[in-house]
Amino acid sequence: MEKLANFINGELVPAQSGDYLDNVNPAIGQVYSLIPDSDAIDVEQAVAAAQKALPQWSAMSIEERAGHLARLADAIEAQADELARLESIDNGKPLAVASAVDIPRGSANLRFFSQAITQYASESHSMGDEAVNYTLRDPIGIVGCISPWNLPLYLFTWKIAPALAAGNCVVAKPSEVTPMTAFWLAKLCQQVGFPKGVLNILHGLGHKVGNALVSHPKIKAISFTGGTATGAHIASIAAPKFKKLSLELGGKNPALVFADCDFDTTVSTVARSSFANQGQICLCSSRIYVERSIYEKFKTALVAKVKELVIGDPLESGVHQGAVVSKPHMEKVLDYISLAKEEGGTVLTGGSRKNLSGRCEQGYFIEPTIIEGLDIAARTNQEEIFGPVVTIAAFDTDEQAVALANGTEYGLAATLHSSNVKRCHGMAKQLDFGIVWVNTWLLRDLRTPFGGVKSSGVGREGGFEALKFFTEAKNVCIKY
Ligand code: NDP
Repeated sequence: MEKLANFINGELVPAQSGDYLDNVNPAIGQVYSLIPDSDAIDVEQAVAAAQKALPQWSAMSIEERAGHLARLADAIEAQADELARLESIDNGKPLAVASAVDIPRGSANLRFFSQAITQYASESHSMGDEAVNYTLRDPIGIVGCISPWNLPLYLFTWKIAPALAAGNCVVAKPSEVTPMTAFWLAKLCQQVGFPKGVLNILHGLGHKVGNALVSHPKIKAISFTGGTATGAHIASIAAPKFKKLSLELGGKNPALVFADCDFDTTVSTVARSSFANQGQICLCSSRIYVERSIYEKFKTALVAKVKELVIGDPLESGVHQGAVVSKPHMEKVLDYISLAKEEGGTVLTGGSRKNLSGRCEQGYFIEPTIIEGLDIAARTNQEEIFGPVVTIAAFDTDEQAVALANGTEYGLAATLHSSNVKRCHGMAKQLDFGIVWVNTWLLRDLRTPFGGVKSSGVGREGGFEALKFFTEAKNVCIKY
């Protein structure tokens, strides 16, 4: 069985303990590779490698640093087909999704930040005839990047690219559930001659190697994407040590559908925003609110559209829904469907595990599920499910729509569908979310601030926001 390796100081190495963890292919429900079960000793070695590499990397010219990132982006593009296949096997997502979304975005993240750093300038504040201030933005030093399993290479590169572009050395940990493409990225680093020790990748359990990484005194900033409870735990370790923290956490995102929307386009967009990647995107809609005058018509059309989604072997073409990421996750999502029924919800479509035959007989598949009849206070409407499950309900007024949308502890992304420009602008301001999409979903410009409010996180990624996070500002005031 294939054994994955850590990447420390440019070398692929096992965990010092010599222990391994199982890596499961969720579409077939079987272990297919082993990953290093790393711990604090491996973190220590990675930090030592990063420390050694830091002086040269941080002092390197921006053009040279950008060149290294661009070559890594090229290497991902050159291996895009193989990486997409690996991502699909590791995560359960359809190959078509990995090919169209995950892998192109992995290289785009590196390319984007290789260019962004060349355009990054800091501020100067004149005090008239008296003095001038200028702001230096230096790398922080060694930073930690921790990413989740839903968009493995996509979110891993989204963190490491700005950190590296800004001149930091990185110790990164992908989710233990989906380690494969980060392991391959390490191999690509070797292939393109990425400087040793600048990027170090450790595999293993969050509560073990992840905890050690967050606690390490020489790691000065943590960029984390994952669940809200994990984010709170990480903050409780890092905050008393005064580390910089960027936390991109969970969501419970509303889609608001108004009677004056472009009906057919909205049905398609809401189906996609609800069930893309088996509903395992932090930005996926999970609560759909529809203006009462079109409620029945919209509900019927959405249910019909969702019934057309093909659930199947992720490696086959024409499949829209693959497996969810793991057995525990499948059980969690199915428990939420049971809870929704206990809370009085009616399942309009889906509602069960999907049993496939042949190769995927033991895979973790769930039917895309739409549930009606639940109040905003229901746990199903308050807690993040992070799977192919959405609720649908009617609203009567704009005020009610905003109150429903804002009615959970989360505030990541809201979507609204309407042709009334005045309403769209006004409502976008009232929605308590870090991101609002109007008549679209997941349309991304990498320069824009990305992140959530309330329990969805602290800080923003994207563009110069990310470069600001990964640099330390120092103001210099010079008297004339
Ligand atoms: P987790 O919070 O379980 O894990 C995220 C990462 O943190 C993993 O690498 C995990 O390792 C690691 N980790 C877990 N415990 C610790 C710890 N004590 N110290 C340090 N690291 C730790 O999230 P999931 O992987 O389950 O991802 C799903 C969650 O991510 C959802 O809540 C989703 O909303 C959120 N998310 C948010 C996004 C955003 O931009 N706001 C985008 C995408 C997802 P391991 O896997 O080994 O446990």
